[in-house]
Amino acid sequence: MNYTNGNYEAFARPRKPKGVEEKQAWLVGGGLASLAAAAFLVRDAQMDGSRIHILEEAELPGGACDGLLRPDIGFVIRGGREMENHYECLWDLFRSVPSLEVPDASVLDEFYWLNHDDPNYSMNRAILERGKSADTKNRFDLSDDAAMELMKLFFTLDEALYNKTIDDVLSDEFYQSNFWLYWQTMFAFETWHSALEMKLSLPYKMALHAGLDAVRGTTLEELLAQYDLI
Ligand SMILES: Cc1cc2nc3c(=O)[nH]c(=O)nc-3n(C[C@H](O)[C@H](O)[C@H](O)COP(=O)(O)OP(=O)(O)OC[C@H]3O[C@@H](n4cnc5c(N)ncnc54)[C@H](O)[C@@H]3O)c2cc1C
Repeated sequence: MNYTNGNYEAFARPRKPKGVEEKQAWLVGGGLASLAAAAFLVRDAQMDGSRIHILEEAELPGGACDGLLRPDIGFVIRGGREMENHYECLWDLFRSVPSLEVPDASVLDEFYWLNHDDPNYSMNRAILERGKSADTKNRFDLSDDAAMELMKLFFTLDEALYNKTIDDVLSDEFYQSNFWLYWQTMFAFETWHSALEMKLSLPYKMALHAGLDAVRGTTLEELLAQYDLI
């Protein structure tokens, strides 16, 4: 899929690359990236699935998107997944994956219809102490100093953030803000996580900032249990 010139190129199907029948693809790691690459190789490069090999060092496939089958305690997964409109590769892939439950629909159709009919919106964005509303009034509540800390992080060179934690670059004043409450609860960040990860996430999650106060703008796959999705 290519959007370099409007959508002129986006929906044209690639021709079968020369010699693809003789090629093998070796992908290191059994996470989403390799699984998606394999699916694109099958769909776009028309490579036979038997020529694609995924090497995974862990016992459990799936990488960060793992799911553990433990019927004795229930299904276990480290986190749910929120998506948004600009997951260009994922949506492109999902339009080619048939729905398991809806005849003649793709997984993308299923996602779209569900989120169209029941858009994600939280009337009470955060609760504290097991049930008390955090009453954030839809505000980021970033002080000038806290906003400057965030801007400084945004403009810091990646190399200067190697081996640093969020705690090394942001202060308690920042942690008092609703912005951090929203950010932390939406993207599963902790203060001991990588400062570089936080910096790199800022522009990439920018499209979601306007909806942080109500978890607007995300698409969720509520149709399936978290364990079964993606
Ligand atoms: C709790 C949590 C919540 C998240 N929430 C969201 C969300 O809401 N929305 C969202 O978009 N993203 C979310 N993410 C991020 C998303 O899940 C990851 O970005 C994505 O799954 C990463 O896929 P990947 O294939 O790039 O890497 P990984 O999933 O990390 O896969 C890499 C794989 O490579 C294997 N590997 C590494 N080195 C070798 C080697 N030398 N040989 C063989 N195998 C090797 C690893 O064992 C691993 O299985 C979340 C992540 C977590 C952990």
